[in-house]
Amino acid sequence: MDTPRTLKSAYDLIAAGLLEESRHNEAARVGERYAIAVTPAIAELIDRADPADPIALQFIPQADELVTRPEERDDPIGDHAHTPIKGIVHRYPDRVLLKAVHVCPVYCRFCFRREMVGPDGDGTLSGEELEAALAYIAAHDEIWEVILTGGDPLVLSPRRLAAIMQGLAGIDHVRIVRFHSRVPVATPQAINGELIEALKAAGKTVWVALHANHPKELTAKTRAACARLIDAGIAMVSQTVLLKGVNDDPAILGALMRGFVETRIKPYYLHHPDLAPGTGHFRMDIAEGQAIVAALRGQYSGLCQPTYVLDIPGGHGKTPLASATTQSIGEGCWSVSDYRGERHIWP
Ligand SMILES: *Cc1c(COP(=O)(O)O)cnc(C)c1O
Ligand code: SF4
Repeated sequence: MDTPRTLKSAYDLIAAGLLEESRHNEAARVGERYAIAVTPAIAELIDRADPADPIALQFIPQADELVTRPEERDDPIGDHAHTPIKGIVHRYPDRVLLKAVHVCPVYCRFCFRREMVGPDGDGTLSGEELEAALAYIAAHDEIWEVILTGGDPLVLSPRRLAAIMQGLAGIDHVRIVRFHSRVPVATPQAINGELIEALKAAGKTVWVALHANHPKELTAKTRAACARLIDAGIAMVSQTVLLKGVNDDPAILGALMRGFVETRIKPYYLHHPDLAPGTGHFRMDIAEGQAIVAALRGQYSGLCQPTYVLDIPGGHGKTPLASATTQSIGEGCWSVSDYRGERHIWP
């Protein structure tokens, strides 16, 4: 049998039994606009008999993506407004994004950078552009943390990753290097000894933020890939996008958060979906998100609680969205609500 490969077109998806033939045209039209990729590990997770499969919803193109709503925008979180030099987004004083690559192992249908990622996206930084980006970081001694994102930085070869880490190793004020990645879910076998070795740099603390949205994604292979990173001294956090039809249910989200904690990954962010074009079918109202997050609080360990955040459109940064649990009722007195929603007076 042939080694399974990544599916990259409507035709590939039909041949693999992941898309009905009648949907070829709609999927092909979506594919002309936004990249498609489904790795073998992801294809294996999809239940072909379930029309509402939460993995299929995340990766199989659908006609809804062709509908751009008036509030949606090409650059939903305002990266461009904070790009002083190619590959860098410097929005907060102490940390920058370094976007070295614009491809991903899989393409999420709700991607917030969907206009920038993919084979036709912004491309990979050339050697010279990377030098210039590193020079920018070196020249700004307020930068304490460099966040590699993109695209998915862990698709880079160990040789290129090592070169980036070597460049950062020479910049004393950078203490933390964070990678945002879906590789442990999409291609867990890629997290091998050579890649892990490449992530190490003298004097730097390395964190990996794993993007996963449904408990099915945390397979034994994915958990083992994360264990290899963590056993090598890398710290991990999670990030999840709250998605209608995928994880907008406290039981599913709770199972996902437990899966992270069992894997030694601290739940970090739960993102409200950004206003990326053609993603309206994934968004719920913020009040619905708040109710789901409040339900998690009472039913799951404190370790399982992510921070529910919105990236304010236009480049204003992230802000927590949890419903207000404290209200001032005058002169040092507060009304606080518990996880059942009952109010208590403090002090
Ligand atoms: C999300 C983001 C970060 C990281 O924010 P944290 O709250 O530190 O996780 C940094 N820079 C930009 C531009 C971002 O969008
Ligand atoms: S892995 Fe991240 S950057 Fe890549 S398609 Fe998914 S959401 Fe977008």
